[in-house]
Amino acid sequence: MSIDYLALANAGVEKLHPYQPGKPVEELERELGISNSVKLASNENPMGLGAKARAAIERALPELARYPDANGFALKSKLSEKLGVNTNQLILGNGSNELIDLIYHTFVAPGQQVVFSQYTFIVYAMATQAHGADAVVVPAKDFGHDLDAMAAAITEQTKLVCITNPNNPTGTFLTKTELAAFLARVPKQVLVVLDEAYTEYVAEDERHPSIDWLAQYPNLIVSRTFSKAYGLAGLRVGYMVAHPELIGVLNRVREPFNCNSLALAAAEAALGDEAYLSEAVELNRREMVRYEAFFQQRGLRYIPSRANFITLDLQRDAAPVYEALLREGVIVRPIAGYGLPTCLRISIGLEHENQRCIEALAKVLG
Ligand SMILES: *Cc1c(COP(=O)(O)O)cnc(C)c1O
Repeated sequence: MSIDYLALANAGVEKLHPYQPGKPVEELERELGISNSVKLASNENPMGLGAKARAAIERALPELARYPDANGFALKSKLSEKLGVNTNQLILGNGSNELIDLIYHTFVAPGQQVVFSQYTFIVYAMATQAHGADAVVVPAKDFGHDLDAMAAAITEQTKLVCITNPNNPTGTFLTKTELAAFLARVPKQVLVVLDEAYTEYVAEDERHPSIDWLAQYPNLIVSRTFSKAYGLAGLRVGYMVAHPELIGVLNRVREPFNCNSLALAAAEAALGDEAYLSEAVELNRREMVRYEAFFQQRGLRYIPSRANFITLDLQRDAAPVYEALLREGVIVRPIAGYGLPTCLRISIGLEHENQRCIEALAKVLG
C-alpha cells in the first residue's frame, strides 16, 4: 500500500517547491572534475570567518555537551548595548529565516493576506503559501518596491507586509523618507517586517533609522542577520527587534534552544569585530565598482545595487550563460525562480574571484 503523503500534508504544501540554493562548490567540482571554482551565488562574506569569531568558537567547544543558553543572554546584552534597545525587544533565531517563519507561525492564518513586492526574498512567498495565506504580490517599480502601491494593497484581511531593504535579489534601495511615509500609512494592526539583511553595506548616513522608528510604530519588526556582512552564514544566526510585547508573543512559539552555542558565541564576538566589518564593507564597495565598470564598458544592463551582490540583466534567457559560466568554474545565481529569467545575480567576492567572474563573462558573452 502506498501512501499519498502530499494528500496528508497541510493545505498549501502541495503548491510548494523546495528552495533552490546556490550551487555548492563541491557539487560543481564533482560534476565537472575541476578544482579551483569560485562561488558567487549566495551573498556570503567572501573574507571567510573572522579571527575573533573563530577564537570564540574555539573557546565554546568544550561546552558543546551542554544545551545552549535558551535566552541568548550574552548576545542579547551585546546587541542591546549596540542598538540602544532593551533586551526584551530582541529575539534570536537560527538565521533570520527561522524568525520569518516564526512570525508566520505566530500571526499568519489561512485566508489572511500578506503583502510583498514582486521581486523580493522568495522566503516570503514560500511561507505565505505554506501557511495557507493569500499572497498579495505588488508589481515592482524599477525592479524595487512600489511603496505607494503596497500601501494601497492593504485591506482588512492584511496581517503582514514584508519589505526588504536593500532588496534581494535586485539590490534596489528605499530611502528613509520613502519608508517613513509608508510606515505612517500602515494601519496599526498590520505587522510590517523590515528585512535589513544587507543594511551594513549601506553608508551610515543613508541607512534608514529603523530602530528609532520602533518607538513610533509598535507594529514594526526589524530583521537582521549575521549571515552576510558578519560572515557567519554557516552557523545560522539572525535577530529581530520589535515592541517587547510582540517579542513576548513570539517567544511563546519559539523553540527553546533554537540558536546553538557556537553561533551565539561567534555572533557575540563578530559584533565586537569592527575591523572585520569595515573591511568587508570597504571590499564590497571597491569590488562593486569593478563590476559596474565592466558592465558599462560592455554595454550590459545591470540594476544598481546597495547590497553585496549585483544583478545583471542580459535581456535574453540567462540560463545558457549561467551554464556556460559553470563550465568556466564560476557559480553565479540564476533568478528565474524570482520571475527574472533574463537576470543573473552575482555576489561580490574577493578581488581575484571577481576578476575570474568578469573574465569568464567576457569569454562566454563573446
Ligand atoms: C540572506 C537573506 C537573509 C538571511 O537569512 P539567514 O536565515 O539569516 O541566513 C534574510 N533576508 C534576506 C532578504 C536575505 O537575502
